[in-house]
Amino acid sequence: MPPRNVRTIRDLIYWEYAKLIAGSAVGDRKNYGFIMHTYNNLKTKKLPPSTILRENQKLVKEASNICSYCGFNQDLQWEHIIPKSRGGPDTIDNMVLSCKKCNLSKGDRDPFEWYGKERRYEVPRLVLGKYLKLAYEAHEKSGTLDSQDLNADETLDVFDLGVVFKKATP
Ligand SMILES: [Zn+2]
Repeated sequence: MPPRNVRTIRDLIYWEYAKLIAGSAVGDRKNYGFIMHTYNNLKTKKLPPSTILRENQKLVKEASNICSYCGFNQDLQWEHIIPKSRGGPDTIDNMVLSCKKCNLSKGDRDPFEWYGKERRYEVPRLVLGKYLKLAYEAHEKSGTLDSQDLNADETLDVFDLGVVFKKATP
């Protein structure tokens, strides 16, 4: 659970980024002290957005010839993290390599819908890094960065992030 001062979509995206950065900086996505420190730095703009970009680039390099979801190395295809049918852009930011099996299984769901509540902490770092960037841009565009609990389930969690992709885009 994110701490109490994570109140908005914007906060939640920073919090999730802080966890990702903790994963690669100190090898522990659950190092609370490090995550909190990074989160506060992101929030107060002491950490520039390029930190996040560098993080994504590093991950892309690591996953250049394996399925981003399961690590399989055959039958690789480009997969849209946010399906095009849900308004996901047709750009490299929204694409990862995926094996045929994962691609088929995921279908037109976003990664969190596919992994579900039980496995939400298992969404791979590369996918999550790209997803957070897309979510930030989409919420910025729809003016919902300062919203809370978009799916009206009385908690702010990663499942609120994807709500922005449900609306049909022209
Ligand atoms: Zn796979």
